[in-house]
Amino acid sequence: MPTPTLIGNRVQCPMCCQVVELVTVTRASRIAGVSRRSVYNYIEEGLVFVVRVAGKTTRLCPGCLIFYGSEVTDVTKAVS
Ligand SMILES: [Zn+2]
Repeated sequence: MPTPTLIGNRVQCPMCCQVVELVTVTRASRIAGVSRRSVYNYIEEGLVFVVRVAGKTTRLCPGCLIFYGSEVTDVTKAVS
């Protein structure tokens, strides 16, 4: 996994090339409008740039999530 370029407290994601603030799974799921389970699925499939902090906290790129999340059919029923 390439090292992201730090820009202030944001990073340039090496996968979707957007400048983003890395967020938790819960926050990312809210931003992208998908379930946390979907977020974990994206992570497992390697579609999302993930950084593990201190071995237990997972931070990920919401840009990747929106990029891929917008292409899944599930997105229409994520509105609550
Ligand atoms: Zn990304």
